[in-house]
Amino acid sequence: MNKLKPYMGYSRGGGSVEGAILIFAHNIKEAKRIAWPVLSQIITDEYTDMAVTYLKDSGYLFDQMPKWSKAKLESNTPHVVDNPPICIDCEMWGCGVLDENGRCEDCAEQVRFDEEFMKKEMAKPDTEKEVDSGK
Ligand SMILES: [Zn+2]
Repeated sequence: MNKLKPYMGYSRGGGSVEGAILIFAHNIKEAKRIAWPVLSQIITDEYTDMAVTYLKDSGYLFDQMPKWSKAKLESNTPHVVDNPPICIDCEMWGCGVLDENGRCEDCAEQVRFDEEFMKKEMAKPDTEKEVDSGK
């Protein structure tokens, strides 16, 4: 059976950072057809400005969807998700699996890095800290 595939719809001119919707459809033609009524209201008013791209390696998106969307996926019904779950830090979606804190992989790594840095900073002997604070 021809399964639904994830697509991202956004403004060609503004780029996906300006806002993007998630579309589940069987092919790009169908994705564009169902994306347009939504995109034309919130992102762009020119049909030629609409960009729809296939999101490859994004099987994780299927797991992240709210219940109503999952039900449509199960019944193989094409649909648009205009507010997919986003990362709490960068507020983007489609950038990978969200961890239990709601962060994407990039942001989770950033947080781990910052924590490591702070730990090292705190572990420094007092003499070094005095130099750092300019006393
Ligand atoms: Zn993020």
